[in-house]
Amino acid sequence: MRRPVLAANWKMHMTAGETVALAKKILPCQERAGEADIVICPPFTSLAPACSVFQGTGLQVGAQNMHWEDSGAFTGEISAPMLKEIGCTHVIIGHSERRQLFGETDAAINCKLKAALRHGLIPIFCLGETLEQREAGTTQEVCAHQLEQGLAGIQSGDLAKTIIAYEPVWAIGTGRTASPEDAQAVISFIRRELGKKHSHFADQVRILYGGSVKPENIDGLMAQQDIDGALVGGASLDADSFSKIVNYGGAEQ
Ligand code: PEP
Repeated sequence: MRRPVLAANWKMHMTAGETVALAKKILPCQERAGEADIVICPPFTSLAPACSVFQGTGLQVGAQNMHWEDSGAFTGEISAPMLKEIGCTHVIIGHSERRQLFGETDAAINCKLKAALRHGLIPIFCLGETLEQREAGTTQEVCAHQLEQGLAGIQSGDLAKTIIAYEPVWAIGTGRTASPEDAQAVISFIRRELGKKHSHFADQVRILYGGSVKPENIDGLMAQQDIDGALVGGASLDADSFSKIVNYGGAEQ
């Protein structure tokens, strides 16, 4: 039985002050932390304030990116030890916005995944196809390639700690969600691909769906056999929506 993960990607939203206000509003989500991992990923400047509001609650904090080196002449970058020191437990790696807008390559993503694992941060490794690739019928090929390149050299024990987020690019921030069946089809394909190299561990890896997840569609997604949770962008900026997503399946608020 894989433990569900509900992760919030706040992207470049929320000042430190706004973070404290929103974090306080979602504190009741801690009631669900016994059954699911709930991870909030605010911008860098809001990580420490979020860690302090959530301390002792079971709600966890993740960054949205990091550099693979521990320190050095890398102006503007943040390292895994810096994130660990302030209390982060997770880090999103390879989000499509970083791939598309900031030129992040599979090789860089692989270095970041290894560095996160080396420092005991749980990576949320994002992958997924564009609309063009889906329409060309290359979804599986694209996902298999990103998976293989991103996870190159990562041992099975570390893979089991890694969270994968399947995020079709055409569904991110567009209001257009993959149907639960379409998401399940790609996610079960990803699990089968993992099984080729890591046969005993593929069943342990948590694989999330991300792309316009809302209170209205979370139940259908979570009912799928291979979908272990969600990475939520827009809807996570609203305390009520995010709480409903965390309490999917009619759990008490
Ligand atoms: C995301 O940012 O990872 C995401 C899935 O965004 P949205 O939920 O807004 O589509």
